Amino acid sequence: MSDGPWASLNLGTSGGDDPQHVAANLDRVTGELALDRLVRMTQVHGAEVAWTGDVPLDEVPVADALLTDTPGVGVLVRVADCTPIVLAAPEQSLVGVVHCGREGLTKGVVGSAVAAMRARGATTIQAWIGPRACGQCYELPQEMVDAVAAVVPEARSTTSWGTPAIDVGAGVRAQLTALDVRTSDLGADECTIEHDRWYSYRRQGQDSGRFGAVAVIRQ
Ligand SMILES: [Zn+2]
Repeated sequence: MSDGPWASLNLGTSGGDDPQHVAANLDRVTGELALDRLVRMTQVHGAEVAWTGDVPLDEVPVADALLTDTPGVGVLVRVADCTPIVLAAPEQSLVGVVHCGREGLTKGVVGSAVAAMRARGATTIQAWIGPRACGQCYELPQEMVDAVAAVVPEARSTTSWGTPAIDVGAGVRAQLTALDVRTSDLGADECTIEHDRWYSYRRQGQDSGRFGAVAVIRQ
């Protein structure tokens, strides 16, 4: 169990928590969800997609989208302000998770994940978008906002105090809708910066933990 600033089931090792505590937390998720295996990824704000069938036991692939077609194998995305997305193609029993922030939006990680699922035969895909930094809080320099909006115009936003911002969730939703994927909210549609029950890098800084979303196919 983690304590201090990571006391709420921290799943990330990048924020300074004891790796043994994080490992125990990951084991707890595996146990609570009765998973045969929990596969996580080293997220690098890219657009790489990995399938769990290609990931050797105990290896952590470098990717920002992790997909599985194996019942009982959970796939984990870890975030603190970035947008967690769960994807499912129920008819083909394919599920996945995606990590998307500012860079993922312009690199098209969501589109890469959807394309990978369709390449394996996915027909109807449903997406759930999780808690993230909202468009009224995620302030960025004007040049960065312009660069994102040049690729995903729907992501352009303004903070509640009137400065340039991006709304990653709105951008992700636009990308998914353009790909004919239906979207819903994954649990609470809350801003991680505004609500302290979520980890937030912007609010907590370097010591921020990571919360996660898991997708699994049940037999
Ligand atoms: Zn907010």
